[in-house]
Amino acid sequence: MSDLGAVSVSATPKEKFREYLTTQKQRLTTPREIVVDEVFDNHEHFDADELAIRLQGKGKKRVSRSTVYRTIELMEEAGLIRKVARPNGKEIWEHDYGYPQHDHMICKKCGTLEEFHNDEIKSILKTVTGAQGFLMDGHRLEVFGVCAKCRRAPKRKHNKLDMI
Ligand SMILES: [Zn+2]
Ligand SMILES: [Zn+2]
Repeated sequence: MSDLGAVSVSATPKEKFREYLTTQKQRLTTPREIVVDEVFDNHEHFDADELAIRLQGKGKKRVSRSTVYRTIELMEEAGLIRKVARPNGKEIWEHDYGYPQHDHMICKKCGTLEEFHNDEIKSILKTVTGAQGFLMDGHRLEVFGVCAKCRRAPKRKHNKLDMI
């Protein structure tokens, strides 16, 4: 869904997750492993319900919905995934670990999230925040509007108001 590529990281997401769980005196149980594998199999924005349904569709019934939710929280704490904006009120997640910094365009009509990266934006933010003595080490930007596909969608017939 995106061509931003990957950032090379020394540990796999699963290794990093296992390390984090160890610091919390927890284990990477089989259900948790199934969830982390599924999440890092492809780079997609996802929500917890979709993920739970997908796992059930694959016959992974022993992963309960509550395990999916809890594992997602743990993965966020471990710095593997992050929450992004919520088109249509849904809570959406994406990879954070091993994935380059990027921003999102969010379509208010279809809820699509599109990614982009622009170095100029970054340098403008550095200048603006630096002027206030702020040392920036990251940013998030969400741009709202209507995507190209929705803009191309056929228009409805004129109603009376349009004709006046
Ligand atoms: Zn759209
Ligand atoms: Zn993204």
